Amino acid sequence: MGDTFQTIVDLDATAAEAPRLAGRVLDLLVAEGIVLAERADRSFGHHLPGPRWDRAVDPGDARWKPTDGLTVITGRTVFHGGQGEADWARCPRCTATIRLYTEEYDRIDAAWEPYGRAMDRWDETGEADVDCPACATAVPLPEWTWAWDYFAFGHLGFEFWNWPEFTEEFGTLIADALDGHRTVRVWGKF
Ligand SMILES: [Zn+2]
Repeated sequence: MGDTFQTIVDLDATAAEAPRLAGRVLDLLVAEGIVLAERADRSFGHHLPGPRWDRAVDPGDARWKPTDGLTVITGRTVFHGGQGEADWARCPRCTATIRLYTEEYDRIDAAWEPYGRAMDRWDETGEADVDCPACATAVPLPEWTWAWDYFAFGHLGFEFWNWPEFTEEFGTLIADALDGHRTVRVWGKF
């Protein structure tokens, strides 16, 4: 089985504004009854589901209340999908798809290497570009898109453990509270 998570990542929040936005979204989720305000000391989500947690999911998925909750993450973070891999990256300038794994899921080391290096650099400094192999543009790492939305690079994320899949409306509710920032849902399993 394993544990699953869905993390709604704000792609635009700066390190400086992340704590304020985190507080605003948490207040909203508590007001809506989706999570509890109390912060429990546990591994799988600090804020447990509230009385109206089902507002975040489709009615058909709302039969069993999740036993795990929400962890709010602030600070520079490489969000990723846990088990599995992103088998391609897409350049936002020329839309070329760069394959990082073969169809047999063997890593293509030469293709992967510049991304791996950029991830280390971004993690350390918050800045890194990858030169697109197709159009030769230096593209900031956070602007690439990934198979399965596997990676996201940001300063603010809402990580829910072992909840049914969120509706689009729930994603919109959070994005609106983030001043319309771009968000992406990174999901996966550990
Ligand atoms: Zn390109």
